[in-house]
Amino acid sequence: MPDTPPARTRVAPSPTGDPHVGTAYQALFDLAWARRTGGQFVLRIEDTDQSRLVPGSAEQIHETLAWLGLSPDESPEVGGPYGPYRQSERLDTYRPYVEQLLEQGHAYRCWCTSERLARMRADQEAAKAEVTGYDRLCLGKTAEEREQLPGFQPDPVVRMLIPDDAPLTFPDLISGELSAPRPDDQVILKADGFPTYHLAVVVDDHLMGITHVVRGQEWISSTPKHLLLHQWLGWDPPQLAHTPLIRNTDRSKLGKRKSPWAKLTWFRDQGYLPEALLNFLMLLGMPPVHEGDDVQTMDEFIAAFDWSKINPAGAVFDLKKLDWLNGHYIRSLTAEELTDRVVAHLVSAGEWATPEPARVEGLRAGVPLVQERLTLLSEALPKLQFLFTDDADLVIADDARAQLSEDAPAILDAAITALDELPDWTHDAIEAALRATLVDGLGVKPKLAFGPLRTAVSGSRVSPPLFESMEVLGRDSSLTRLRSLRASL
Ligand code: GLU
Repeated sequence: MPDTPPARTRVAPSPTGDPHVGTAYQALFDLAWARRTGGQFVLRIEDTDQSRLVPGSAEQIHETLAWLGLSPDESPEVGGPYGPYRQSERLDTYRPYVEQLLEQGHAYRCWCTSERLARMRADQEAAKAEVTGYDRLCLGKTAEEREQLPGFQPDPVVRMLIPDDAPLTFPDLISGELSAPRPDDQVILKADGFPTYHLAVVVDDHLMGITHVVRGQEWISSTPKHLLLHQWLGWDPPQLAHTPLIRNTDRSKLGKRKSPWAKLTWFRDQGYLPEALLNFLMLLGMPPVHEGDDVQTMDEFIAAFDWSKINPAGAVFDLKKLDWLNGHYIRSLTAEELTDRVVAHLVSAGEWATPEPARVEGLRAGVPLVQERLTLLSEALPKLQFLFTDDADLVIADDARAQLSEDAPAILDAAITALDELPDWTHDAIEAALRATLVDGLGVKPKLAFGPLRTAVSGSRVSPPLFESMEVLGRDSSLTRLRSLRASL
């Protein structure tokens, strides 16, 4: 975009558990805008709330973004000119700004105990008070003065002094304009010396040269505080884009407890391809102009990206669409590539401790049999399990045995004889021989003729294509299985 200066965007998750799918959704917009304008996309880890940290969560954020192809240009992992990119390593950076705000009278110390604050809130609620929030007991007092009053503790926090005329309406790149209620006197420095999110986010967005902030609409109520902090510190605020909430198809919120797909790791565990999920997130953000144009590359998304095209009304998380996309991307891989993806999935899901060469080769032979019918990578092995089972261990499922017809012994006998003599063991030759013997010779309808063979070979009523399966299984195994079912009838 020739007229737009290079943007610096950031995603700033807190490492408090499994990364949320919303983080990837926002990172997608961040990356698209950074690429479109020739700028940079930054990952900053916001870990100032030490009580909520979950070990390993920051690593998971890096990994899942990389898996999706949304790797940042600057981050705690790769570094960059504006580091450190982890807020817990920047504590000294924030303190001078707190001092400045105190000196300017925009902030004040507060020594109230949490018990006093809880009581104050309960009293306000009981009285159905119109004005709620901190009652400013500490405002204008020295520590000595405040100590004379109840509910005092010696380590103060620092609060913003929100003016009566604080601006509450602000421009937004997605919604045009947004408004928020009047904020409380927000704590910006905690008693443990850590800044709160509100101070750290403003200082870091400024010092890291962030030009565009993309974040969820749940942060709208915080924005007036951030804009005041920018103003008090004499800084131009970044442009803001509050992304619509992602909802389930029943309009419920996409929370991690009720909707496991709120977690980014869920998609990899289930066997979704990153390109399918990425494409799905693109559709959530920017619905295609022409119906049916659902498949998009990242380059196409970037080329078309514009804030005005993002639907502010909310994005509906329709897993059926994602399944469709996943099937599409699975079919667009070569069988070789798909096998590699399945192997990587089995290893990462812990189903295979190591990719043993013999099993990988077995899978490589089997994957073309199921590629057309897969929705998820995780379905491949169960569908191909009969290839990995010893002939003697193959179990014939009860429902498969139950539907064998009276003709089954004769069909199996004829098939065994025909296949025993077959000169070349290819699926075409197998099919030709079986059709000649069973359909033309015995006069059995194809569907009925091949059912017992399918059950003998796979143990089930449904299996990948029969003749191809027999080819992959090999002559010896196929005949052993046919004989074994025959003997059991
Ligand atoms: N640390 C905040 C979060 O966890 C970031 C919000 C923002 O992007 O400003 O979502």
